[in-house]
Amino acid sequence: MIEQARQILKETFGYDSFRPLQEDVITDVLKKKDSLVIMPTGGGKSLCYQIPAMIFDGLTVVISPLISLMKDQVEQLDEYGVPAVFLNSTLSPEQYQSNVAKLRSGSVDMLYLAPETLMMDSTRNLLRDLKVDCFTIDEAHCISEWGHDFRPEYRQLASVRETFPDAVCLALTATATPRVRDDIQQILDMKDSSVYLASFNRENLLLKVADKENPLDQILDFLYTRPNQSGIIYCFSRRQVDELWSDLKAEGHSALPYHAGLSERVRTRNQDAFIRDNAQIIVATVAFGMGINKPDVRFVIHHDMPQNIESYYQQIGRAGRDGLQSDCLLLYSYSDKSKIQYFINQKEGQEKEVAEKHLESMIHYMEFDGCRRKPLMNYFGEEYEKENCGLCDNCLRQQGDLQDYTEQAQKYMSCVVRTGERYGAHHIADVLRGSKAKRVLQQKHDELSTYGIGMEWSKNQWIQLSRLLIRKGFLEKDSDHGNLLITKDAKKVLQGDERVQGILDRTQTVADENARPKTSSDVEDKHNVHLFEKLREKRKELADEQDIPPYVIFPDTTLMEMSYYFPQSEEYLMGIYGVGSSKLKKYGAPFLKIIREFCDENNIEERSREIGKKVKKTSSGKKHHQVGEEYKTGKSIDHLAEQFGVKTVTILSNLKKYLDEGNKIDPDGVLAASSLSQRKIDEVYESMEKNGPAILKPIYEDLNKSVDYNELRILQLAYLAQNGN
Ligand code: ADP
Ligand code: ZN
Repeated sequence: MIEQARQILKETFGYDSFRPLQEDVITDVLKKKDSLVIMPTGGGKSLCYQIPAMIFDGLTVVISPLISLMKDQVEQLDEYGVPAVFLNSTLSPEQYQSNVAKLRSGSVDMLYLAPETLMMDSTRNLLRDLKVDCFTIDEAHCISEWGHDFRPEYRQLASVRETFPDAVCLALTATATPRVRDDIQQILDMKDSSVYLASFNRENLLLKVADKENPLDQILDFLYTRPNQSGIIYCFSRRQVDELWSDLKAEGHSALPYHAGLSERVRTRNQDAFIRDNAQIIVATVAFGMGINKPDVRFVIHHDMPQNIESYYQQIGRAGRDGLQSDCLLLYSYSDKSKIQYFINQKEGQEKEVAEKHLESMIHYMEFDGCRRKPLMNYFGEEYEKENCGLCDNCLRQQGDLQDYTEQAQKYMSCVVRTGERYGAHHIADVLRGSKAKRVLQQKHDELSTYGIGMEWSKNQWIQLSRLLIRKGFLEKDSDHGNLLITKDAKKVLQGDERVQGILDRTQTVADENARPKTSSDVEDKHNVHLFEKLREKRKELADEQDIPPYVIFPDTTLMEMSYYFPQSEEYLMGIYGVGSSKLKKYGAPFLKIIREFCDENNIEERSREIGKKVKKTSSGKKHHQVGEEYKTGKSIDHLAEQFGVKTVTILSNLKKYLDEGNKIDPDGVLAASSLSQRKIDEVYESMEKNGPAILKPIYEDLNKSVDYNELRILQLAYLAQNGN
């Protein structure tokens, strides 16, 4: 029977192979062995019951807590040509009767129900006349009081099982601590059932924590690099949501707010606009997210730190359900921590204790300087084995990024000591920089030996250093007054027994973007973005015509494969991810038309699916030639600096020579060496347009000296590489 399942997977859903555990679960369900499946969001739980439902003679009843999700699922199944219906209070009497008639005639495979509908006499009577082969309980954690959204109605499901002794029971959830797991098994009487526990590591999520400095700017920098992408920005309070939303709107972003202070009507409307790609960004409190099935959410930003790891995990889990690489950016500031601490202090007893533990693990996660997946997985009782995940800010950081700040740390901390540990980071920076600020003079801090010994750095750099010292545990912030205190460990640094190493500027939200890790898939990295956009437009048009969300027609992955392989025929199209027979019939023609036209216009041919690796070129003897050729194999500038044992600037000048000789180089790899935001980069480029790229001085002046020469050199090379020398 698993052969049949595999065939359905390809024929109907257009997928080549099962995801981990799917095959095992489906095999069990088909054998009528009860199963409990715990898989993270996006793991592919739905197919575990949808495919058996299509194979069973009888009906599969799916219990789901949210009406919006049911509707979404049925719409999706409809697109795949799979007969499914739901019964709930949103249906008109005619629709209701029509669905009942379909059920009675045995022409549907799946019936979606909320638990309260299932408990109604009319529904029970209806089901008694039908053959039910499978009971699926989605979001099964709702059955447990220990879960985060307990639904009393779920409790009654246990009794229903007895009425259908021939039906197999399949319980699914994305969140289950061992306690919740036990509850589910016990309440549903599934003691002898199989339990499938998938890893909670979401491999496609890029995890990043940045120091919050100018959050609006930081978010704008980030968004600038993500035109046309869907994302969620979480804020702590309603007020913050409104503020950020109106700021983003003023900057021309397509954003909408969502929080409990808005009327139900407005909330539904905004959520709908997001799902249908009418608005790209939703700025929201934690109230947003339940019941969102949108698979192509490309980023989740936390403007404020989340309350605990569990909610953080859930919220970032809304990104990248389709398996494509997606970003999770968390902005962290010390004052957010104090804010949460303040709320915790209002609590009492055990509640307070639990909240404090939660805060502690959250802080630990944010300040951790190893792979972020370790503390995250650990929280869910899973061990993350790899040393380097390759997809979190810490793992992506390059060796050379870590610098030694011992000398500055000594200056800074002795200034903290000299001023009596009674001041905050700004004041210390002022003293070090020899400021004539009133407060400095009033306190006679201009007479201290540390006055003016830190002119080499900007005020901002000293403040960043204070954060680094807090992160490393050398300084503490008094929680009442915000003044900095020296810790025991700091003494070792002051005496020269311990060194301080770290990253000073952790405020960049897109620095990694330039060095964006390649995904494991060429389709994702190298598809034709112009065609992709055209296909997206078509998808949106077709979706609006039918009043359904675009992703129901095809997920992004499908459009990416189309814009990578350029299929010209229906046969080839059928081999594309997510194209099954029903969708081929419905949408094959309009999409093929666009692909063909695009290929004609641009002289592109269909790509055969097996392409061998390109032959490696031999390199000539000269150094800059070697560097150039090595660079062409895809190595980063940092990598080359290490390989040749020279500084980055040397590699840059080698590449410039290579370029000057008429060779071509990829500008993106050069840009990766820059740590400027895309917004800043574009400013520099504009100035180069205006002043010409050859001489840097006028550009330096033009930008008010805000970009240093090292950066300008990088951008000059990138500019020349891009625009021809
Ligand atoms: P969950 O319910 O666990 O959050 P879904 O069932 O919604 O996850 O699946 C997430 C996405 O992955 C969907 O777009 C789904 O079509 C896709 N998917 C599921 N199984 C496979 C598979 N075997 N191959 C490719 N894509 C799959
Ligand atoms: Zn990592």
